[in-house]
Amino acid sequence: MIPTEFDYRRAATLDEAISLLSETDGKLLAGGHSLIPLMKLRLSEPGTLIDIARLPELKGIAQSDGMIEIGAGTTHHEVETSQLIREQAPVLAECAAEIGDPQVRHRGTLGGSLAHSDPAADYPAVMVALDAEFHIKGSGGWRAARASEFFQDMFTVDLAPDEVIVKVRIAPVKYAAYAKLHQRASHYAIVGVCAALDLDGGVCRSARLGLTGAGSHAVRMPEAEASLAGKSLTADVIDVAARTASDNASDLSSDLHASEDYRRAMVGVFTRRAIEKAASR
Ligand SMILES: Cc1cc2nc3c(=O)[nH]c(=O)nc-3n(C[C@H](O)[C@H](O)[C@H](O)COP(=O)(O)OP(=O)(O)OC[C@H]3O[C@@H](n4cnc5c(N)ncnc54)[C@H](O)[C@@H]3O)c2cc1C
Repeated sequence: MIPTEFDYRRAATLDEAISLLSETDGKLLAGGHSLIPLMKLRLSEPGTLIDIARLPELKGIAQSDGMIEIGAGTTHHEVETSQLIREQAPVLAECAAEIGDPQVRHRGTLGGSLAHSDPAADYPAVMVALDAEFHIKGSGGWRAARASEFFQDMFTVDLAPDEVIVKVRIAPVKYAAYAKLHQRASHYAIVGVCAALDLDGGVCRSARLGLTGAGSHAVRMPEAEASLAGKSLTADVIDVAARTASDNASDLSSDLHASEDYRRAMVGVFTRRAIEKAASR
C-alpha cells in the first residue's frame, strides 16, 4: 500500500520539532517502525512528517543524581547493549533484546514505542513496573509523567499533539525481570509481565508488577503486588501471586493470537516466571 501524500521536515533542534508540531498537522517520525506501516495502511495520514531521528537532545544514556536517564531517541539495540543499563537495570536491556528482530531493534526507539503504546509492546510493562518517569516537552514547557498514568488505552497516552517525549528516568534496579509469551512472527507480547521486587534478606518488602499484551494497554497488578508484600518468596507465596494476577486480570483481549481464557491463564504463568527470575538475581 502507498501512503497519502505528505511533506517531510527534518527538525534540527527539539524546539524546532515542537514548533513544527504546533504549526502543522504533523507527526513525529523516530524509527518509523510503527508509524510507516500505519501510513501505508492509511490508518494514519499526517500532512507532515517531522523527522526527529537525529536530534541530539533525544540521544544518550547517562546516570544523573543516582537515576538512569535514557534519551527517547535511543534505539532498542542501544538499550540492549548499554553497559550502564546492563549493570544498573538489566531487566530493561533484557526487555529490549526481546523486541522484534535485529532490523526493528536497530531502527525502533524507546520514545516511539512509548508514544505509540501498542497493546502488545514490551517496554510499557517494564516502565510501569519500574515506576519510570517520562520527561516531556511541548509548547507549554516541560512536564513529567509517571508511566502508570501515561498509558491510558489502546494507542492512547497522556501526550498532547505538540508534545515530545525527551527522556525516560528510572532508578537502578536489581531484582527485576521480564517474562513474555511472544507472537512467533513479530515477537510482540501476547502476554508480558515485568516483576520488580524490593527484597530484604529473602523477604519481599514490596513488589511492582507490570502487565502488557493482555489488554488494551499496560497496567500494574495491585492485587498480586499486595499478595507478595511482607512475605518470604516461597513457592506457595509465588503461586498465590500468580493465581491472584490471573484471577484479577481485567480488560483481557481476545484475538487471532489468543483467546481471553488463554490470556488469563498465561497471565498467571508469566507472572510466576517473572517473579521467580527477579527473585533469583
Ligand atoms: C516487524 C516488527 C516487529 C515488531 N516487534 C515488536 C516487539 O516484539 N515488541 C515491541 O515492543 N515492539 C515491536 N515492534 C514495534 C517497534 O518496537 C517500534 O520500533 C516501536 O513501536 C515504535 O518506535 P519507532 O521509533 O519506530 O516509532 P515511530 O514509528 O517513528 O513512531 C511511532 C509513534 O510515536 C510517535 N513518536 C515517536 N517518537 C516520539 C517522541 N520522542 N515523543 C512523542 N511521540 C513520538 C510518532 O509520531 C508515532 O505516532 C515491531 C515492529 C515491527 C515493524
